[in-house]
Amino acid sequence: MEHTIELAGATIDTRNFINGERVATGDLFANHSPIDGSFLGDIHQAGENEVNAAVEAARAAFPAWAALGPVKRGELLHKLADLVEANIETLAMIETMDNGSLLRSHIRGVMPRVAMNIRFFADWAINKLHHPAFETRGHSNNISWDPSGVVALITPWNAPLMLATWKIGPALAAGDTVVLKPAEWTPLSASFFADLTVQAGIPAGVFNVVNGLGKVTGMPLVSHPGISRISFTGSVPTAKVIARAAADNLTPLSFELGGKSPMIVLGDADLDLAATLAVEQYDNAGQVCLSGTRVLVHHTVADAFAEKFREKVAALKQGDPRDLETDIGPQIHPVHFQRISGFVDRAKAEGIEVVWGGEPNAELGGLFFKPTLFKNPPVGSEIVTSEIFGPVLTMQTFDTDEELIAMANGTEFGLAACLVSGNREHADAVTSQLVAGTIWVNCFFVRDLSAPFGGSRKSGIGREGGTWSFDFYADVKNTVVSPNGWKE
Ligand code: ADP
Repeated sequence: MEHTIELAGATIDTRNFINGERVATGDLFANHSPIDGSFLGDIHQAGENEVNAAVEAARAAFPAWAALGPVKRGELLHKLADLVEANIETLAMIETMDNGSLLRSHIRGVMPRVAMNIRFFADWAINKLHHPAFETRGHSNNISWDPSGVVALITPWNAPLMLATWKIGPALAAGDTVVLKPAEWTPLSASFFADLTVQAGIPAGVFNVVNGLGKVTGMPLVSHPGISRISFTGSVPTAKVIARAAADNLTPLSFELGGKSPMIVLGDADLDLAATLAVEQYDNAGQVCLSGTRVLVHHTVADAFAEKFREKVAALKQGDPRDLETDIGPQIHPVHFQRISGFVDRAKAEGIEVVWGGEPNAELGGLFFKPTLFKNPPVGSEIVTSEIFGPVLTMQTFDTDEELIAMANGTEFGLAACLVSGNREHADAVTSQLVAGTIWVNCFFVRDLSAPFGGSRKSGIGREGGTWSFDFYADVKNTVVSPNGWKE
């Protein structure tokens, strides 16, 4: 049975990675490239037996990994980051072939960031994870972050290795062991990464990968009584299923879910900057949870802004993501492409005005959808309330700030917001009223790993980043020591 794929000059194993070994199953699922639909290979799907074996391996590896302490773990994690850096081009091509996002971004930003995610949390555990002891009537409170056990990480397909290492980095640095289930549409980078953990000398069982569909592989993992945490990035409906599965064991959850974030242009905004930031909302073919997909612009500047925005969109080059000149690649999968087309077709059928795009890119065919803008959708229509996760934005105008805040906060989500303004006081007055985990003012996508990241409302539960990550992955403990009773 085939169990490797040759890609980007590398050999990628398509079997599960359990206890440092490759595990084949008879149950295969096909993996295709979104770029041209070409068949990449068959992936070995893990069922309940393999998931149980992975959790058992991670449990067995836990005591020694936890006992190693942050400094020794840090040495191994830095070796792993070195290996990621030595393989940036390979990892970038693997990811581009598997999920269709830009090779340019992977080489310049994403894969270096993968290495940084690992280094950052390794160093944080060594240098920054402490809280000064404090006194209560002469007693000292001593706070520590103890490793919690085996963590289940469930990750999505839009930025596979980047999002996985936001979780893997702090979990391993905290002394936990890991079972990762990557998204079934993008399993390849995690498999190659597993080989790097072996080369880095990370002990068998500390890091495990199981592949497969949510129902087949994800469910037995998240309902397993032997895991101490579940960290999930994905959609709201799946989060509800996972929360129910976790309820029996009361497994703590961290959820980073969807968004329908506003991209706000105030009347006093620099419109060139606003147009530059607006066009970035099409990044990754719109498959970014943080995207500001609802452009809300003050009516006095709406026409001037739209003109500048149009010029920038017209300059975007759509095509093969391996071409370094390309700005927008394909959507991830035919199923997702149909979902996006469905939203767009229904909005058109409702009579909502298409300003540009509004259809697949017929010239390129396949999974390429044109960057799309709808104008003035009626309040409550699904195009302004549902997360589309494609290159589809809406534009609405407002008059007063009060009206703006109501529109901006008017969805079930609260992940992010982007605001463009030329006046600090005005910007502050608006941002203080927005419901969002992250707000970018006159910028977009600036993300410091020490900053809290997550969503309000249905956009998530909890925050990741810096100490917030360790508060989740570790067991935070307070040891209260009395001044009395000592014999020495
Ligand atoms: P999408 O982002 O494609 O809408 P999901 O939120 O369903 O999808 O997927 C994100 C991740 O959650 C994927 O790794 C997927 O396999 C996984 N997943 C889906 N359903 C379940 C489930 N019932 N239990 C555990 N994981 C699941």
